[in-house]
Amino acid sequence: MFEPQQRRNNPVARNSMALFRLSQAIKKITQAESDAAGLSPVQIQTLLFARYTRDDMATVGNLAAAIGATHVTAVKIVNGLVKKGLLAKIQNPEDRRVTLLTLTAKGREAASRLQDWGRGLEEAVERIPDEILANLESGLGAVISILREKNYLVVSEPCLGCVHFRPNVGDTSTPHYCELIRKYLSQQAAQKECPEHTPASHQKAP
Ligand code: SF4
Repeated sequence: MFEPQQRRNNPVARNSMALFRLSQAIKKITQAESDAAGLSPVQIQTLLFARYTRDDMATVGNLAAAIGATHVTAVKIVNGLVKKGLLAKIQNPEDRRVTLLTLTAKGREAASRLQDWGRGLEEAVERIPDEILANLESGLGAVISILREKNYLVVSEPCLGCVHFRPNVGDTSTPHYCELIRKYLSQQAAQKECPEHTPASHQKAP
């Protein structure tokens, strides 16, 4: 894809190069927005992970997978944020061997100010006409799906649309059920991101 003449007649090389260039631009955008927030991009990703991930899935291991870092690197990022008073480590009440990450009051405040992080990217995408946007979404979805299959990416999403989700089968406080973890879930928990989310298109044939 880096050979310009080869790209001319090769849509795979052209699209691969386009994605590579995008990754560079995204890096630049998020770095600039992180500098403005006084945090590094991975620190911001960690705060957003703690904010949006279902409480019982907010582990260091899942964080490492979500940001594409090693476990050791994730631990260092977490410790830095604990030192800043933005993040706390707590024991999982259901399994004392597991440590969960949670935002402190100061961290919640900081995370709420990060609502618009990545805005520069959204501003660029906003300029694309609707009909092109629909094709872009399905094309990017296909790439993400393949990268996910190859374990280059973890795609965390809320329960809706997951093959394991059984909505409205429980009681008022925990109305939904997950067949994978065999647990009833509150409405709030089902609306948070889960790294085990499996869309129908990913279900393995029996
Ligand atoms: S595996 Fe699916 S249904 Fe279960 S908690 Fe995760 S997203 Fe929800």
